[in-house]
Amino acid sequence: MRLDKFICKSTELTRNEAKKLLKKGFVLVNGEVAKDASMQVHENNSITLDGEALTARQSRYLMLHKVAETICSNVDEVYPSVLHFIDLDKAFDLHIAGRLDADTTGLVLITDDGRWSHNVISPKKECPKVYRVWLRDDILPERIDELTAHFKAGIQLQGEAQLTRPAILVQVDTDEVLLTITEGKYHQVKRMFAAVGNRVEKLHREKVGTIELADLAPGEWRYLTEDEVAQFL
Ligand code: URA
Repeated sequence: MRLDKFICKSTELTRNEAKKLLKKGFVLVNGEVAKDASMQVHENNSITLDGEALTARQSRYLMLHKVAETICSNVDEVYPSVLHFIDLDKAFDLHIAGRLDADTTGLVLITDDGRWSHNVISPKKECPKVYRVWLRDDILPERIDELTAHFKAGIQLQGEAQLTRPAILVQVDTDEVLLTITEGKYHQVKRMFAAVGNRVEKLHREKVGTIELADLAPGEWRYLTEDEVAQFL
């Protein structure tokens, strides 16, 4: 990790404050003054700030029940960032592992471990994400098998070169389904249903890997358990 990031992770300092102290020569890496904020350092380097040994804080892993009209971004835009719901020190140093649209609700994973979030998001890792989908048009009983097969075979989305990866569709009600996908293209679920002539009215993510939203109340967050974290390490 970059030296300035390491300093932020192991102190209360902001990136700018860390850079200033670096410039002033307050930081030693393995006994040598280090002024380059972009220098790559590792856990086993000896790093001191004004003579005090630094150890990087443990990475943080949490889940949030996202409400509508919030966004999965580190900056507020039309709507506020979901990170405002995380009442922790340096919450905006965290990032969202797999974004949801502003109007989508449900399970959002949040961390400061880039490799971990890559494992959640990367289609190559085939991590299943389960969405509850409410549709404009009922799925007629005589069409469900054909539709299920179509979602399994892959859907041609507008503007995409490749079909979507196999998806599992399970009907819950005439206008409600559970859809499991292992990738996260832009507006993927909405575009998949648009491609078969329907429209998503409401979308809610219930599960990512083995992590379930369960009874976490809207707007609430909690730390992930060790087992929940371990599946993406
Ligand atoms: N697919 C969508 O269309 N929107 C989301 O928020 C998530 C998946």
